[in-house]
Amino acid sequence: MLEDKNQEKTSLEQLGEFGLIDHLTKHFKITHKSTIKGVGDDAAVLDFQSKKTIVTTDLLIEGVHFDLSYTPLKHLGYKAVMVNLSDVYAMNAKATHITVSIAVSNRFPLEAMEELYAGIALAADKYKVDLVGGDTTSSTKGMLISVTAFGEAKEEEIVYRSGAKPNDLLVVSGDLGGAYMGLQVLERENEVFKVNPKSQPDLEPYSYIVERQLKPEARKDIVELLEKLEVKPTSMIDISDGLSSEILHLCKNSEVGCNLYEDKIPLDPTVISSCEEFKLDSTLVALSGGEDYELLFTIDQKEFPKIKGNPNFTVVGHTTEKNEGAFLISRNNSKIPLTAQGWNSFAKA
Ligand code: ADP
Ligand code: MG
Repeated sequence: MLEDKNQEKTSLEQLGEFGLIDHLTKHFKITHKSTIKGVGDDAAVLDFQSKKTIVTTDLLIEGVHFDLSYTPLKHLGYKAVMVNLSDVYAMNAKATHITVSIAVSNRFPLEAMEELYAGIALAADKYKVDLVGGDTTSSTKGMLISVTAFGEAKEEEIVYRSGAKPNDLLVVSGDLGGAYMGLQVLERENEVFKVNPKSQPDLEPYSYIVERQLKPEARKDIVELLEKLEVKPTSMIDISDGLSSEILHLCKNSEVGCNLYEDKIPLDPTVISSCEEFKLDSTLVALSGGEDYELLFTIDQKEFPKIKGNPNFTVVGHTTEKNEGAFLISRNNSKIPLTAQGWNSFAKA
C-alpha cells in the first residue's frame, strides 16, 4: 500500500542517515536527572547513583511479530516501547530510558518513519522515559525495530521470578485473552480486504480487543499501586506469552507447584463474545493467547486484605509444594496438568 503513495513522499535517501536520525530525535526531551548524555555522542551516559540498573531488550521483525497491512506505524512504535517497559515493570522497577534501533528498506518514505516515531514519542511522553540513543540502518526487505529499556530500583524493591513460596496467592492484573482475540478480528478483516478492497470493516464492536492488540499499555500503574498498598510480590512476571507459560516460568524459577482455577481467570465480556463467534475456548485463549502485557505475581497470603476487592487484581489460584505439580482446576473440578501451550488435553487435540 505504501508504494502507491510514494510519489508525494520524501525518500530516505534524500535525508541520509544522519539527517534522518536528527529529524526523528530532535523533538524528544530529556526529563530524568539520571540522563547525563542522551542522543548525539558515541554512547549515552546514565547515572543511577545508589540504585540498581534494570536492562531489557526486544527485537520485532516485520512478518514475524507484526503485519503492516493492519498495523498502523504509530501503533507499532508505541507497542515496541510497551513490550519493553512491561519487562521493566515486571521486575517491580521504574522505567527511565529507552534506545530504539531500526532497520528499514527504501520502500518506507520519511513520512512512515515520522509515524513510527510519533508512536515512540507518545509512549516516551506518557510513560516518562527518555530516548537516549539507538541505531539506524537499511534493510533489504522489511522493517526491524529493536527497543532496549532501562529502569531503576532499590535492591530491596526488585522482584524476581524466583521468590514464590508454597501457599502464596497467584494474582493477575487486568483481564486476559483480549490481545489474541483482537488479532483474530484483524486477521479476519485483512483476509476480507484482500478479496474485496472496497469493504469497510466495522471494528466498533471489537474496539476493546483490537486496542488490546494494537495499542497495549504496560502496567506502570500496577507497580505504583502495589507500592502504595505496601504490597511487595514474592515473585512477578509479565504476561507476554499467555498465562499458562508464565505461571510455569514462576513455578520453575521458584521451585513450587500451583493450582490455577479456571473459573477465576479474568475475561472481558468482549473476549467471551468473540470467542463464541470464532468458536474458540476462552480459557484456552487466556492460557495461551499472549500479548496481554498484564502482570502475574504471587503474594504471601497475609497480604490478601490489602488487595481484596481491588478491581485491578484477580486472585486466580495459589502455589503448592513443587512435588504436587502445576494444575488447572477446571469448572467441573477436574485437575488438568498445565503445559506451556495451555493444558495437556489440548496438546492431543
Ligand atoms: P555510531 O556511528 O556511533 O553508531 P550513529 O550515527 O549511529 O553513531 O548515532 C548517532 C547518535 O544518534 C547516537 O547518539 C545514537 O545513539 C543516536 N541514534 C542513532 N539512531 C537512532 C534512532 N533510530 N533513534 C534514536 N537515536 C538514534
Ligand atoms: Mg550507529
